[in-house]
Amino acid sequence: MDAVKRLALVAHDSRKNDLIRWAIRHKEALSRHVLCSTGTTGALLEKILGLPVERLKSGPLGGDQQLGSRIACDRLDGIVFLWDPLNSQPHDSDIKALLRIATLYNIPMACNMSSADFLFSSPLMDQPYDNVRRDFDSYQERRNKEAIEKYREQEG
Ligand code: PGA
Repeated sequence: MDAVKRLALVAHDSRKNDLIRWAIRHKEALSRHVLCSTGTTGALLEKILGLPVERLKSGPLGGDQQLGSRIACDRLDGIVFLWDPLNSQPHDSDIKALLRIATLYNIPMACNMSSADFLFSSPLMDQPYDNVRRDFDSYQERRNKEAIEKYREQEG
């Protein structure tokens, strides 16, 4: 992971003002990184912050899944995700999937403002970082082998 990080900023509707307040405080640090967001969060950030933000689809329209795909393809280094713990969302399954894939790939993920403050206070934000992950190649090889064995057992 380079010193310049590819970061995602996402907030559910009830958390958008919190995210903007947080982002204003960290504007200078944010400006050193490459930012992307789900659609509505990104529009708000660009308008209020004046920093370039790549806008993906809105969360309910697949934006969370786009972020998950970036994580799986090693195209995202961190995420500030202010999700709403008090209300269910139409895309709850996508939110759970994003939390899961970020955890699996050992992506730094802050889900509230204090965690985001701690994340952005870390000297690692501006240094290269070796993100140690579990060995997914041997996991995949084992699954392939098991699938072939099972097929042969069942189908001869
Ligand atoms: P939004 O999506 O930025 O388009 O509001 C956020 C989300 O619901 O994940």
